[in-house]
Amino acid sequence: MFDKILIANRGEIACRVIRTARKLGIRTVAVYSDADTNALHVTMADEAVRIGAAPSKESYLLSDNVLEAAKKTGAQAVHPGYGFLSENAEFSAACKANDIVFIGPPVGAIEAMGSKSAAKTIMEKAGVPLVPGYHGDDQSPVILKQHADDMGYPVLLKATAGGGGKGMRQVWSSDEFDEALEAAKRESLSSFGDNRMLVEKYLTQPRHVEIQVFCDQAGNGVYLFERDCSIQRRHQKVIEEAPAPGMKDSVRAAMGDAALLAAKAINYEGAGTVEFLLDKDDTFYFMEMNTRLQVEHPVTEMITGQDLVEWQLRVAAGQDLPLSQDQLQINGHAFEARIYAEDPDNDFLPVTGTLSYLQPPEESAHVRVDTGVLQGDEVSIYYDPMIAKLIVWDENRDRALARLAQALSEYRISGMTTNVEFLYNLATTEPFRKADLDTGFIDKHSKLIFHKSQTEINRSLPLAALYLTLKRKQDAAALACQTADPYSPWDNTNGWRSCGANIHDYSLLINDSEITVALEESATGSFTLSARDASELGMRISGTLEGDELHADIDGHRVRANIVAHDGIYSLFTQDAALQFGLIEPDYGDLDDGGAAGFTAPMTGTIVALPVEAGSSVKKDQAIVIMEAMKMEHTIRAPADGTVVEFYFQPGDLVDGGAELVNFEAADSDS
Ligand code: ADP
Repeated sequence: MFDKILIANRGEIACRVIRTARKLGIRTVAVYSDADTNALHVTMADEAVRIGAAPSKESYLLSDNVLEAAKKTGAQAVHPGYGFLSENAEFSAACKANDIVFIGPPVGAIEAMGSKSAAKTIMEKAGVPLVPGYHGDDQSPVILKQHADDMGYPVLLKATAGGGGKGMRQVWSSDEFDEALEAAKRESLSSFGDNRMLVEKYLTQPRHVEIQVFCDQAGNGVYLFERDCSIQRRHQKVIEEAPAPGMKDSVRAAMGDAALLAAKAINYEGAGTVEFLLDKDDTFYFMEMNTRLQVEHPVTEMITGQDLVEWQLRVAAGQDLPLSQDQLQINGHAFEARIYAEDPDNDFLPVTGTLSYLQPPEESAHVRVDTGVLQGDEVSIYYDPMIAKLIVWDENRDRALARLAQALSEYRISGMTTNVEFLYNLATTEPFRKADLDTGFIDKHSKLIFHKSQTEINRSLPLAALYLTLKRKQDAAALACQTADPYSPWDNTNGWRSCGANIHDYSLLINDSEITVALEESATGSFTLSARDASELGMRISGTLEGDELHADIDGHRVRANIVAHDGIYSLFTQDAALQFGLIEPDYGDLDDGGAAGFTAPMTGTIVALPVEAGSSVKKDQAIVIMEAMKMEHTIRAPADGTVVEFYFQPGDLVDGGAELVNFEAADSDS
């Protein structure tokens, strides 16, 4: 076994590899770019070497710098992780030339699978079933189109050099073909410097099922069953699970054998994944082979009880596979959800920012969190916006799914938009619970996942109002404890009036619209809904708040909800779905009778425009600041005639909820 290895990667996968190396008593060397000077993988490793500037092309992709770092530190082997240099045959060859072990397959195997079309030719020869299609060398548009016409539509155009869903286009009819081909070629050329295409029959409702294979240097090979990765956005995975729901033993065995056939056809060594499309009728087709460890390998680890990085290290060190095929068994069910800094409401575009608050759910035998970031870290423009992988396990799918929902509802992240609520909403839909999976799942069920019906919103509103009221009481009580007179009536939040109802009312921002809800507090501390739909009026509500957990009683129906509050935005997770809302703070107008008054931001958001200049006189109700939060604009108006003395922020600035925005002087402060 090795004494010291270098990990040519960053983030969660570098941390993941370091953990196993440490378990095996192997010392580790990290590499880092200027953006990662203080990254977790750097602090976790025994040594770390700077390899260049922040952009990956100037650091993590520079094979010479990585090799130099390995030589300098005396690392005997390099683990490439996934992405970056993991499927780069030249890098693997350069390692070999320098007597450094590349922890991955031999150069020939990487080369064989590097081109999707060449890989298909090899697989076809080896008798592995392929998606019907054309993957030949003649790239003339007429020939490509002829094949598409012969095959029948829809077809899928794929970049031969492709990856990450780039250079891929669905074509639904012959008329669309030429335009789609042009677009796919352009995208492929700009992403991979190569515009060769293959044409495949587009299967409309397949599942993405992949087989984990492992081979050692002695020629033994096993498969560690399958993963279902059908839940994808933009053809990229977001939730994976193992085993694939409803998989028949005979299909599993046939796919496993086909995957091993694929691996043997290229004299494979180490960890590899053979990806298939599985059709409704259980026919399966080879798609591609990834010659590295996959992002989603933890679900396989959870159901087999094996550490795949340990297997990789053993195999690379020349040892035999730790287990034979009949020693491997599936135990229970596992899910992985990829937590991304991205905006599901904006076509899942990646977002950047500082992780101002980060608290993952607690890890246990059922919950595992693979991450490479800590609170305070930056999700930058340079690398993949994945924050973590949340992995759960239990005895069966239903129980594992309940664990997934629970763990997602406990994930607290502030500082940027993430896909946590999206994942929760997806994981709690009925079709997902029933495992009605195919690669079009998100599109097909987008209504269920994205658009809360008014009924669903109404169901959560009393909980939101109850939470806000109880939270306000808790905060006031905590403050009161710090004062000289903890029993002072001024610390009460029950809205007591000598005669008249005690009402707590809230303006909430939900799905771009403002919704008001009010709770009338009784003398006994329970509440009645006093402003909403006529059908809900009079609903009796009570409850307690323990940390982030709300225990509510609504007309005798007890429910539990988890609430995550960050940056003035609240996510309320109930059993059925997550509801996100903002609280619009009431406008108290000019609070400073001395003349100068500050306006505070009603919630965290961006300054969109300042319609008046600093120093100008304004009329009462004239717009002074326009902010945007949760994709909705708020206009902040002058409470009286006066002068805008100074703005504290400029358009484009991100401001925290409650931050003072402007210095305003009323014209007649006595009025
Ligand atoms: P990439 O390497 O760019 O990620 P893949 O070949 O792995 O591309 O395909 C990514 C996804 O695209 C698959 O998981 C599947 O959802 C979809 N896909 C690929 N080929 C087909 C096909 N022939 N029919 C339907 N969907 C496909």
